[in-house]
Amino acid sequence: MDYRDSPEEAEYRARLRAWLAENVPAPHSGERTNAEIAAERLAWHRKLYEGGYIGQSWPVEWGGKGLSPTMDAILNEENGNADAPSLPAMVGYIGRALQMFGNDEQRARFIPPTLSGEIQWCQGFSEPGAGSDLASLTTKAVREGDEYVISGHKMWTSAGQWADWCLVLARTDPDAPKHKGISAFLVPMDSVGLVLQPIVLANGDPETSEVFYDGVRVPASALVGQEGDGWKIAMTTVAYERGPSDVGAISTLNKQLARLERHAQSTGATADPRVRLELARAYVRGEVVRLMALEQLSSRATGKLVGEEGSVAKVLQTEASQALAHLALELHDADIVTGRAPDVVSQYFQTRPMSVYGGSAQIQRNVIASRILGMPRA
Ligand SMILES: Cc1cc2nc3c(=O)[nH]c(=O)nc-3n(C[C@H](O)[C@H](O)[C@H](O)COP(=O)(O)OP(=O)(O)OC[C@H]3O[C@@H](n4cnc5c(N)ncnc54)[C@H](O)[C@@H]3O)c2cc1C
Repeated sequence: MDYRDSPEEAEYRARLRAWLAENVPAPHSGERTNAEIAAERLAWHRKLYEGGYIGQSWPVEWGGKGLSPTMDAILNEENGNADAPSLPAMVGYIGRALQMFGNDEQRARFIPPTLSGEIQWCQGFSEPGAGSDLASLTTKAVREGDEYVISGHKMWTSAGQWADWCLVLARTDPDAPKHKGISAFLVPMDSVGLVLQPIVLANGDPETSEVFYDGVRVPASALVGQEGDGWKIAMTTVAYERGPSDVGAISTLNKQLARLERHAQSTGATADPRVRLELARAYVRGEVVRLMALEQLSSRATGKLVGEEGSVAKVLQTEASQALAHLALELHDADIVTGRAPDVVSQYFQTRPMSVYGGSAQIQRNVIASRILGMPRA
């Protein structure tokens, strides 16, 4: 693939850049609560949609523009360059799961409002005893007439407190092999019997939650695909969650590195050869992520679906982000404890769970070893 813009892409990029210059909200400094960040992201999602920039690569019949995934990657990249609020991540993976596995009625009902930001989603997969070994999940859905009754306990349902709907995995056939007895359901977050308990993370924010399902009743039409399709749907969702579309993360990494270089120069830290070496390493890690993202994007632009290579993207991006945040912490020295560098502290805490959510770093390495490299199991 030629990584330079085609004339059509260059025209889109220029138009988008001009629009972003007019519309990106003024940057905030200092720490903000997750509720404030979530509200800002939602407002930004809706503004981008009104501007005609959400859903470039989505089919026209579901409210998209039917263009190449490169256009979404350009939005992602320019959004990062413009220091705009983050793009709505769940659109990219729960939306894709709906597009690939939902029936026409579900697509028509859910995809357009998901693109426009009228509907916010969360993902109810993990449980107290089922994270890495997701197929061990015990939440069950029992068919009763025209309904399913869902009972169980989900952990780490991120953004659950702001979501309208949840894609929930539940066991519908306890006698089937564990990967085969799972189904996926679309569940309203205001259902009777659903209780959400926020989980406060190390930075003090309740970004994620545990959710109890105590006989939650949903219509049979809430089933996505067929009974037993849950594993396939979950693996597609996490493949899109893990990578490789996040070109925007690269512009964010580049900007964080440039800021850190300026800071290191202003304090004289760059006189230390070890600091220069670490800054150079951070640059190289960022370049590796960028080239890998472009390679995976070129594959998607030819129509290939996202697969196991998302695990490579996730490992590299996590390592680059965490190492840079750690270096920033070190180079800000006493400012970290005196509270003079809240953005650096916030960046550090935001990068820590990256090696856990969406599947842990160890699990990604298992996927790479067994499914990409074909290595034997121990
Ligand atoms: C901030 C945050 C947000 C999250 N958001 C969501 C969400 O929105 N929806 C959702 O469903 N889930 C979410 N998760 C859950 C996340 O996907 C799980 O935490 C993750 O899959 C790990 O599962 P676990 O926590 O049960 O750890 P465990 O599976 O118990 O793993 C514990 C440790 O053992 C290692 N390990 C386990 N099995 C193996 C193995 N076979 N080989 C090598 N090492 C192994 C793991 O890598 C890990 O280091 C979130 C988690 C966090 C922290």
